[in-house]
Amino acid sequence: MSTNTECMYCAKDQRLSDLMIEVAELDASILYLFKEQTYKGRCVVAYKKEHKNEIFELSEEEMILFTKDVARVAKAVKTAFSPGKINYGAYGDKMPHIHFHIVPKYENAPKWGSTFDMQPDEKVYLSESEYTEVINKIKENL
Ligand SMILES: [Zn+2]
Repeated sequence: MSTNTECMYCAKDQRLSDLMIEVAELDASILYLFKEQTYKGRCVVAYKKEHKNEIFELSEEEMILFTKDVARVAKAVKTAFSPGKINYGAYGDKMPHIHFHIVPKYENAPKWGSTFDMQPDEKVYLSESEYTEVINKIKENL
């Protein structure tokens, strides 16, 4: 097991809690709700066992479990909020720990037909009770 203290997904520190809220522990990952909610239901699925940069560094078994987590979350978000499409973003140049952005996109809404903005200029933050409501809707459908 290797962790990287410079990595917010390993350290689980303020950098992480400023950006997201933990929703659930899945088989190979931790599911977070992204606080910036321009794309309602936007989540992050982060590999949980150790610090790995690339999906090909996982064993085949872990790769399958992680991919199943991504699919499970995407299905839950689709069922909960009925977006037109789920977008999947895996970048991580500056935060390479394996994580996928699960971004529901809605027709006639921001960036439909294009790439979602990692941090949109006009940010949408929710109240605590609204975050709880979104989290509960995702959890009900996991
Ligand atoms: Zn890490």
